Amino acid sequence: MQFTVVTLFPELIDAFGDVGIVGRSRARGLVDIATVNPRDFAADRRGTVDDAPYGGGPGMVMMVTPLRRAIAAARARSGGRTLVAYLSPQGRRFEQALVAELAAYDHLVLLAGRYEGIDERVIERDVDCELSVGDFIVSGGEVPAMLVIDAITRTLPGALGDARSAVEDSFSDGLLDHPHYTRPEVVDGDAVPPVLLSGDHGAIAAWRRDQRLARTRARRPDLLAAGGKPEPDPVG
Ligand code: SAM
Repeated sequence: MQFTVVTLFPELIDAFGDVGIVGRSRARGLVDIATVNPRDFAADRRGTVDDAPYGGGPGMVMMVTPLRRAIAAARARSGGRTLVAYLSPQGRRFEQALVAELAAYDHLVLLAGRYEGIDERVIERDVDCELSVGDFIVSGGEVPAMLVIDAITRTLPGALGDARSAVEDSFSDGLLDHPHYTRPEVVDGDAVPPVLLSGDHGAIAAWRRDQRLARTRARRPDLLAAGGKPEPDPVG
């Protein structure tokens, strides 16, 4: 799968693309991550990409022409099925259910805004959809773009060391994940729940399922109301 981030700060995306599961997936050729910088497509020699808003007000707005050219260059990186998404607090909420939908594309072009945002005419003409990572404002679309790339990459076959990790993650089936423990067995007086040391796989699966349900009920009852279904009881 290809990702092309249109950004004024390619160094942020480059650093992110080198580490962890995303870095490993990139090294193995599962994902390709590139950047296109609108500054390289500015109409003047100074590389101007923003200007004051019509109508007045604070801040600057990213200009149409550098963005339009950068998006065209990004699109041209792939002949496959491409979606151009603008990261925007006004977009469709990016949630786990949307990850599979986006993973069906061959190429995602992720447009990261800065300043007060981008000229509306780019959204109207050059962008296929808008994606929000939540009801809060960050300074630029780069971190939201990284969230999208990371969440999608985790679901690609071969990206995780053990594919079961993704299946058991929170939200994958509408429930939160169960708690996790590792060695030592007791630390500062706090012991691992005995069932996890029992070697009884049925009992462990049942305990984990109960934990997932109890956590979801306590912390995110909205997920259960939305139809989150507990996995079938493995011990009957
Ligand atoms: N004035 C804009 C508004 O209120 O809709 C916010 C501009 S924000 C300071 C600059 C850029 O950060 C946006 O163009 C967008 O790309 C990105 N951004 C900020 N919050 C975001 C969010 N919750 N989800 C996705 N992108 C976001």
